[in-house]
Amino acid sequence: MILEKEKIHRYMRHIIMPEIGGMGQKKLLESSILIYSDHLSNSALMLYYIAAMGIGKIHCCTKDALNRELILQNLQSLNPDVEICISDTPHQPQAGQGLNYDAVIVFCEKAEMNFAVNSLKNIPIILTATAGDCGYLKSITQRQSLSEALAALNSFYLNNDDQSETLFHKACTSLLGTLAAIEVVKALLDIGSLCENALQFNLASLDLAYGESQLNSYTYALNYEQTNKQLKEAKVLIVGSGGLGSPAAYMLAAMGIGKLGLVDYDTVEISNLNRQILHATDKLGMAKVKSAEEFLKRLNPQVEICTYKQKFSTENAEELLRDYDIILDGLDNLPTRYLLNDVCYFLKKPLIEAGVLGFNGLATAIRPDIGPCYRCIFPESTDNSPIPSCSETGVLGAVPGVMGIIQSVEVLKYLTGIGIPLVNKILMLDSMNLDITILEIYKEPSCALCGKDAVIHELQDYDFFCSDKNLK
Ligand SMILES: [Zn+2]
Repeated sequence: MILEKEKIHRYMRHIIMPEIGGMGQKKLLESSILIYSDHLSNSALMLYYIAAMGIGKIHCCTKDALNRELILQNLQSLNPDVEICISDTPHQPQAGQGLNYDAVIVFCEKAEMNFAVNSLKNIPIILTATAGDCGYLKSITQRQSLSEALAALNSFYLNNDDQSETLFHKACTSLLGTLAAIEVVKALLDIGSLCENALQFNLASLDLAYGESQLNSYTYALNYEQTNKQLKEAKVLIVGSGGLGSPAAYMLAAMGIGKLGLVDYDTVEISNLNRQILHATDKLGMAKVKSAEEFLKRLNPQVEICTYKQKFSTENAEELLRDYDIILDGLDNLPTRYLLNDVCYFLKKPLIEAGVLGFNGLATAIRPDIGPCYRCIFPESTDNSPIPSCSETGVLGAVPGVMGIIQSVEVLKYLTGIGIPLVNKILMLDSMNLDITILEIYKEPSCALCGKDAVIHELQDYDFFCSDKNLK
């Protein structure tokens, strides 16, 4: 057997993907990586994903190791298969350091990285940088392209004023870290294409650029007092505490949202832990909403958490949503997605959608009567053709991480009115090629729910979509 039974269960969602399989997972478990980080708190989410996905040895050098004990404890209980060392030794590595690693992630906020790399042998380097709401990521496999990359990085800093105190900065560092986690898996397994043509993005304006192109400048006035008050008074409901709900709740708690509601009926299972970073091995069998609550309370004791261990259904949907300002979809199956879409439409609640499959993800922000609803984008099939199976499919652990962070950013945009939202737009991630595309989408005039001749005027029976009635 390639892997022991427990590991097969833990990494099931990876193993069933042909690009990874049992051999790929074994390779990840035998790999070791080195991470350079400025502040541990900025790298924490990246570390959770790297550990969850089962990269065997992780050595993180950080200048500022604030909360090291808590983060280490979380990492070890998330995945005991992984050996983690977090050292606050000087940032600059010693000569020869790096020789025993299979890949390196450079996750620094400032261009202090001319170091190093001379002492590293020819291993993949994932280079990341943030400035305000802007992020930069480039994967390097040939050492000769390194000096070129460092020059490009300097021009990224020059072009994007380093104002780390922007509204989306925290989300920007977390998003970059999660993307870097995906890149490192691809590099270790030699799958897909690495992002050798640097990716740059601005989370506030949704501007994207590849290669030498520059981001358009985008500025906004930020009134801290007012913004903090808006976030503190906000009530956000997250339906589903799994792959998408975990990173979204993590970010929203870290950003200081006043009240978070969590809806989930499930209990923690070992096959969740390759991606559901709020849960842990010592919480198997516990209600997901409770496990999530414990994690989030340690992350930010100020946030009020309301848990609902209930199946989301036509009976409780309206009641659950009523008191919340905005709803985030963290569901993993189609029938309840339609239900959530419909109830948000009837109650006129904004809904932040995302979905993941394999290496891909998509996200959009739905505002009733302003843009398309979920049914406009994905209408119900009318020709009785078979509905895609509701059974579990493979997903690379960090992909829902990326999408959940994007969802949290869209919540922030709605609550503060800052930035360009994903309304009338859909964001699509193809992480195998690290390709992010944003397309315009439109309201469908013939939509059964929000079109002019709508036929759906109340909640339906949503069970017929799925042959397996045991799934929620
Ligand atoms: Zn519609």
